[in-house]
Amino acid sequence: MAKRDYYEVLGVSKNAVDADIKQAYRKLALKYHPDRNKGDKDAEEKFKEATEAYEVLRDPKKRASYDKYGHEGVTGFEGFGRGAYTDFSDIFGDLGDLGDIFEGFFGSAFGGRSGKKRARRGADIQYDLTITLEDAAEGKEVQIEVPRSEACDVCGGSGAAPGSKATVCPVCNGAGQIRQSQGFFSITQTCYKCRGEGKIVSSPCKSCRGTGLKTRNRKITVKIPAGVESGSRLKITGEGEHGPEGGARGDLYVMIHVQKHKYFERHGNDVLSIIDISFPMVCLGGEIEVPTLGSGKVKMKIPPGTENGQVFRLKGNGIPYLGSYGKGDHLVKINIRVPRKLTPRQKELLKEFSKLDGEDVGSAREFY
Ligand SMILES: [Zn+2]
Ligand SMILES: [Zn+2]
Repeated sequence: MAKRDYYEVLGVSKNAVDADIKQAYRKLALKYHPDRNKGDKDAEEKFKEATEAYEVLRDPKKRASYDKYGHEGVTGFEGFGRGAYTDFSDIFGDLGDLGDIFEGFFGSAFGGRSGKKRARRGADIQYDLTITLEDAAEGKEVQIEVPRSEACDVCGGSGAAPGSKATVCPVCNGAGQIRQSQGFFSITQTCYKCRGEGKIVSSPCKSCRGTGLKTRNRKITVKIPAGVESGSRLKITGEGEHGPEGGARGDLYVMIHVQKHKYFERHGNDVLSIIDISFPMVCLGGEIEVPTLGSGKVKMKIPPGTENGQVFRLKGNGIPYLGSYGKGDHLVKINIRVPRKLTPRQKELLKEFSKLDGEDVGSAREFY
């Protein structure tokens, strides 16, 4: 499906000011928010589309890039804001900057005034993932298995044995919390009767011992973006622990660990490799093929008279910049290969070379 113009998505003009953009997005977000359109794929798509448009247009840098280059201009930013991973699906759980919009609206519409308990969010999970340097340079989709709590299949997550029902806690009226006024202050405490659950389970489900949750291994596909480093943390929204009481899932954080490579040494976005070159080649010059992480094999000229340890820079053949354009460089450090075994003919030629060079190799003979 072709991407729609962001201004068109939000229904604003090209020179709309920030406030217009925010207002237009708020309207669409409230209309299509997944919480209000459960299971409606079309609404979810519209919500995502609007959110993506808003993410770009509210950021002056991204907006300028979009105005200049269109969608191409912001794909580099997509998913990444200054090194920290933010997925667009992000908006479902943690609302980030938009929190105020939703907090205000949903808080008063569904939570606050009715006195009904607000569903608790599930816990976040951290998962450590070790990848090769190649994968870090190229990006990759990896499937991981994360043990996490899921709604119990026997009781459907209610915690009550099949056939029985959980009853609303009579003490807190299902809120899970009790508010007590003391003079000017009002203190909110977790309900002692239901321990914050808001309900009483008289005959607990045997399968989950009344918790409503079970631990399962869940297969999750992780998109590793090119350019990640050890310590990069990918946030996958809504793939954390199950939220009790129908609350949103927590988030999954995938911590990236990049393995050391046998030949390639990473220095930020530059990659260094040591290349063995024969003695005649450094003298006479030539051309070699250098394996790189960023661009496969790259041809490189060895100028005559190249010295041992000399470093050549192959621009733009290193590791891609995370969430941005371009790549670092590939650095080639020259290591002159000194032949250990020489045939009689080679020795003869070297001696002749040496003689022409005005050097007496008689004393060096013992080294060969
Ligand atoms: Zn159960
Ligand atoms: Zn209670």
